[in-house]
Amino acid sequence: MDKAWFDTAQYLIGGRWLDAGAHLPVVNPSTGETMGQIVHCGALQVDAAVAAAQSALSGEWGAMTAAERGRVLTRIGVLVAQRAEELAQLEALDVGKPLRQARADAIALARYCEFYGGAADKLMGETIPYQNGYTVYTLREPHGVTGHIIPWNYPMQIIGRSVGAALAMGNAAVLKPAEDASLTALAFGRIAVDAGLPPGALNIVPGLGAEAGAALSAHPGVRHLSFTGSVGVGRLIQQTAAQNIVPVTLELGGKSPQIVFDDADLDRALPFLVNAGVQNAGQTCSAASRILVQRGVYDAVVARMAEAYGALRVGPAVDDYDVGPLISARQRKVVTGYLERGGDLTVAARGRVVDGAAEGGFYVPPTLLIGARPDHPLAQEEIFGPVQVVIPFDDETEAVQIANGTDYGLVAGVWTENGGRAMRLARAVRSGQVFLNNYGAGGGVELPFGGSGLSGHGREKGFEALYGFSVLKTVAAWHG
Ligand code: ADP
Repeated sequence: MDKAWFDTAQYLIGGRWLDAGAHLPVVNPSTGETMGQIVHCGALQVDAAVAAAQSALSGEWGAMTAAERGRVLTRIGVLVAQRAEELAQLEALDVGKPLRQARADAIALARYCEFYGGAADKLMGETIPYQNGYTVYTLREPHGVTGHIIPWNYPMQIIGRSVGAALAMGNAAVLKPAEDASLTALAFGRIAVDAGLPPGALNIVPGLGAEAGAALSAHPGVRHLSFTGSVGVGRLIQQTAAQNIVPVTLELGGKSPQIVFDDADLDRALPFLVNAGVQNAGQTCSAASRILVQRGVYDAVVARMAEAYGALRVGPAVDDYDVGPLISARQRKVVTGYLERGGDLTVAARGRVVDGAAEGGFYVPPTLLIGARPDHPLAQEEIFGPVQVVIPFDDETEAVQIANGTDYGLVAGVWTENGGRAMRLARAVRSGQVFLNNYGAGGGVELPFGGSGLSGHGREKGFEALYGFSVLKTVAAWHG
């Protein structure tokens, strides 16, 4: 862990760094080796974190103006940008993310802080025409303590979009990073403290989902929950939130399609088609795991994607190959299990794990599959690995049917030079984001993001997130 510039085995409460006594290993996915440890927080630490957040709200943090909060967030963003390379190195080691992608995440985190720093004093209420003798207006207030339970696939980006927006609106956050990927969350905490974020505005409690996560989601002092992760845990979180009647934002993944019509600009489309499947080894909520192709260009698209897959090199994250390892042995088992279930499909192409990649690393060669009917499990279920299926279609109607034929609805891409068709598809496809002649897997600080169906509900990112992280109050004043 010589890459870490801080003690990774600590948690953050009320501006103080503490050791819980119990620890969890930090495993390097590129080698399978244990390289350090993090603390294992439980209900006790979560209680203390919520209490610290409540104190912050009634103390220095709660007294800050919106402009002052914005200034602190902006300062955090500047420090994140200054330490982007260190953060990227840390993420590559901890999550197995190739350096180029880890760098993009660090820059995105800085950009989230900058965006929400700038937005903190821009959300305004309204005056509402009402009866004579009244003035009625609305205020946007913080929920209070917000709980943030985040996954291991994009820790920095998800901290940025969720904690950044919550702090901008004046909430005090308790962050529970994923047990497989807590290091950049802890680094972010160091940076936030250095930047002058008042004590308790951000508290970080690493630990297991079933303990620290469950304690945070059930805590009656938490007044808003935002969760990004699996559908199963999302259901649990929503049930728990129902006990305390608190709002939840759930982002639970997808089975996102990119739809390629005969008239598409294939030269432009190709890198987006492939990259949106293999970026972060396919462990991306908005991965384009289904490529739907009109029959006239089906053979050409499969051939060109296969060629690109053949050139993909899989190797250690710090050496910055095209694709890194999966996060864990458990995730590798999930993905190889899916590949076995897809034994009836045809492998159009595979990437290659480089010679010399450690035996113990959690590598899975990217795999391009054809021959799946739209209802095949591999065309329906989220695999969360570097696997894409290509499915042919005849016309616009069938394309929409297949695109909307899963339980998810997160992101979609449409490739066509026909402007009218692009606009029709943008309306017909059920998803939270639609990209026309481009595709933004994982990106887009400014772009509201979220799903429907099993993909979850609520919107994060962009200005829209500020509505979710605040509560509207209506003030009706009678003055005669
Ligand atoms: P994945 O399957 O991608 O690991 P999870 O949904 O299991 O995704 O994990 C996402 C986040 O949810 C992690 O921070 C994890 O610790 C947390 N988590 C897991 N189980 C629970 C739970 N029962 N209650 C609250 N949080 C949980």
